[in-house]
Amino acid sequence: MTCVSFVAAIDGPAGAGKSTLARKVASLLGMRYLDTGALYRAIAFSLYSRQVLPEEGPEMDAAIDDISVEILEDGLLLNGKDVGKEIRSPLVDSIVSSYAALPSVRKHLLSVQREQGKIGALVADGRDMGTVIFPDANVKIFLTASDEVRAKRRLLELRERGEDLSYEEVLQTIRERDRVDSERSAAPLRKAEGAIEMNTDALSIEEAVAELASIISERKRSVTG
Ligand code: C5P
Repeated sequence: MTCVSFVAAIDGPAGAGKSTLARKVASLLGMRYLDTGALYRAIAFSLYSRQVLPEEGPEMDAAIDDISVEILEDGLLLNGKDVGKEIRSPLVDSIVSSYAALPSVRKHLLSVQREQGKIGALVADGRDMGTVIFPDANVKIFLTASDEVRAKRRLLELRERGEDLSYEEVLQTIRERDRVDSERSAAPLRKAEGAIEMNTDALSIEEAVAELASIISERKRSVTG
């Protein structure tokens, strides 16, 4: 598969700061941003709402055929509807990985993601950007942070949205999500070959954005001149 445009592929575990940083860096460098976690969240939310269990089979195939996901400049539409708020709930946090592990779900989202790599310079974040979706990406980054730091950040985010969860609950959900995402056989979470690893534990958002932007823009200069 060839990437027509410049692609920066960012992968890493839950809550490592991928979406926040990738969105800011894309805007800073005048690139488009693709949040692939939102795609999996939307599809999981839709299937769960329709009481379709996370199992392969004819019921799953029929349900998936009815789902359309359209990527917008800043968000997405699930069968024409904006579900931006619903897909960030603790409920979706706890069910998304079991749906994302299914090959039929991943297949449904494959071309919609790859198409985004052909439209213009792109920063894409997820779990399999550098390994499966954009194996020819111009730069690959594996973003990490300790479990505790990731849980604290996620807790803050949830509290800001008015969700009342304990630190332990958030930590446990993050660890369970990482376990399922890493142990599945379809496109498991792993560091792509040649990816630059960046740990954000000791970095403020501004510092992490600056570091990430410098890695990406340097590579962009060397590729596009
Ligand atoms: O990135 P975010 O935490 O929003 O992703 C939610 C979930 O979607 C992940 O825990 C994972 O199960 C799934 N996902 C995936 N592949 C991607 C992006 C997300 O399996 N490329």
